[in-house]
Amino acid sequence: MQKTFSPSSLNCFENCPRQYYYRYVEKVPVESEGIEAFVGKRVHEVLERLYEFVDQGMVPSLPRVIYRFHMFWEEHFDADRLRIVRQENGFEDYRADGVRSIENFYRRHYPFDQDETLGLERKIQFRLDADGQYPIRGIIDRLVRARDGALEIHDFKTGRRIPRQEALDSDRQLGLYELAIREEFDEPGEIRLVWHYVLRNQTRVSCRNDEQREALRHKTVRAIDSIRNEVAWQPSKSGLCDWCEYKGRCPAFQDEALPQETRGSELPPPETGGPLRPETRVNEPLPLAAPPAPEPASGGDPQLGLFASAGRGGHDAGS
Ligand code: SF4
Repeated sequence: MQKTFSPSSLNCFENCPRQYYYRYVEKVPVESEGIEAFVGKRVHEVLERLYEFVDQGMVPSLPRVIYRFHMFWEEHFDADRLRIVRQENGFEDYRADGVRSIENFYRRHYPFDQDETLGLERKIQFRLDADGQYPIRGIIDRLVRARDGALEIHDFKTGRRIPRQEALDSDRQLGLYELAIREEFDEPGEIRLVWHYVLRNQTRVSCRNDEQREALRHKTVRAIDSIRNEVAWQPSKSGLCDWCEYKGRCPAFQDEALPQETRGSELPPPETGGPLRPETRVNEPLPLAAPPAPEPASGGDPQLGLFASAGRGGHDAGS
């Protein structure tokens, strides 16, 4: 049983207690990875690296950023280990989605001077209660100080689906991160939660009030209690089973001929969601920034060549 919970582990339990059991109780090793998660990690790695360079006063050109994405792809790619559920698409289609995501983000935010980065892949750990019985951990893709002084918690999403605003306004992941940051920074002012749907080139924003934050805190405590009190770990079949790395050992599929019955076969690949809840505000897509000036492939600041050449570790956030 987990001692410290994360938004993705809570989502996992609510999606399927059996999957949670395999992943967090038995800790069954995983031998494959869904292509959607693979693409997401590569895009996260590149955007993180991009902002690291921006912090040092260097803005790599878009071709260099794309080149770096391809390098990360090649470094990690293993066709025998990666799983494609949507068979109508091949690996190269997913790679093209990754390139498009980065292009969208780059063109939208160039020259990356709209705000100040306070943290990249920033780990958070805090407790929901005074006694410390309900610890939470997570990783913030990018923590930002906006020009108006507000803190912002940014999350990069590479999936196609954009949740409705009501769902984002009750999103647990960034809501919990807000609780952590508010506590750490002793921040009384507004904290904006910002999602970048990079493949769709859309941005969404949500802000919570005190009542919503306390409701989230209590709801999450109850969710952790449910996990701690669980004994049956029953499978819960859904359209997400096709992306489940434990399907081969799951009792719900042992005696069934394919194709499996699913609830909502049009469900998207696993991503954050959450119960619906009203209120808050919508930020419509921001106007596109001017595209970067073209740069000769072999010219420019020689330091920026490092952007495409030096290797670096991977992203492990559950986003
Ligand atoms: S295959 Fe479906 S029912 Fe079985 S463990 Fe995975 S998510 Fe749960």
